[in-house]
Amino acid sequence: ASKESGGNIFKFYSNISKFSIPNKMKLEHGMHKALENKEFMLYYQPKVCAKTGEVSGAEALIRWKHPEDGMIMPDQFISLAEESGLIVPIGEWVLRKACSQLKEWKSKGYPLSRVSVNCSILQFQQVEMPDLINRVLQETGIGPECLELEITESMIMKDSERIISQLLKIRGIGVNVSIDDFGKGYSSLSALKGLPVTCLKIDRSFINNIPDDRHNVAVVEAIIKLAHNIGLGVVAEGVETLDNVNALKTMECDEFQGYYFEKPLPHDKFVQFLMQTHKWVELV
Ligand code: C2E
Ligand code: MG
Ligand code: MG
Ligand code: MG
Repeated sequence: ASKESGGNIFKFYSNISKFSIPNKMKLEHGMHKALENKEFMLYYQPKVCAKTGEVSGAEALIRWKHPEDGMIMPDQFISLAEESGLIVPIGEWVLRKACSQLKEWKSKGYPLSRVSVNCSILQFQQVEMPDLINRVLQETGIGPECLELEITESMIMKDSERIISQLLKIRGIGVNVSIDDFGKGYSSLSALKGLPVTCLKIDRSFINNIPDDRHNVAVVEAIIKLAHNIGLGVVAEGVETLDNVNALKTMECDEFQGYYFEKPLPHDKFVQFLMQTHKWVELV
């Protein structure tokens, strides 16, 4: 079949599914039921402010608590949810859940100002996406500045006109947008200028071996300088060691996220964590 597709060979391969048909049907059916039966849940991982050492926000990360198979991680089902279109209702659930959770925490006085939600390209391609965001903000009663959407470079590269027009509307609402896994997608740094986003999240593959890897130090340094020059904030993801932290501090990275601080936690554990009023003194 690859021969027949001729000049379209890349298209062919990019459309190929990593799931076999029976597995696919089973998993798709399972995801439908999971939505109905409320088997999805959100874990939360803190983001830490480099200047104050305090928690500045949290990223919501989906988990599937399957009744028979136990906990299923997003890497095992998000791509099929995208293939099948189910990511649209799943993503809507994630958005609503994260916003209403933040509202509840805020009303209880827990110190958390912002929640970040991962978005798939399919959600962004829905014309009504900006309306949906508006509606969810209204329903849950959190301000737009309390919400951040995480998108990837590859989304912008795949369908840039449409994605940028949606980004403009979403930024118009006042919602923050960060580019996740930045550096992995080979988009040129200059292409960033003028993009309607607020923040770059540097991919963890550049972070977890600094300062030992001199090459990555140079890359991270360049990304941070450029981001600041064009008015964007910078988050480092996958921060695992104090050496990583110190290197990033020196490079004036704005926020950190990673196992060094805390892993993603389910609701109750995350609340416990917030109650302990964390402050990382090594940052101050
Ligand atoms: P991501 O958005 O880049 O999320 C960061 C991932 O890195 C999370 O994996 C997190 O648990 C992991 N991580 C955090 N700190 C560290 C660290 O210090 N070291 C290492 N090695 N890993 C760390 P997770 O939760 O398995 O999520 C994987 C990916 O699945 C996410 O990557 C995101 O692309 C996707 N995803 C998760 N939740 C959602 C969702 O609600 N919607 C969509 N569309 N995608 C989601
Ligand atoms: Mg993310
Ligand atoms: Mg990421
Ligand atoms: Mg990542």
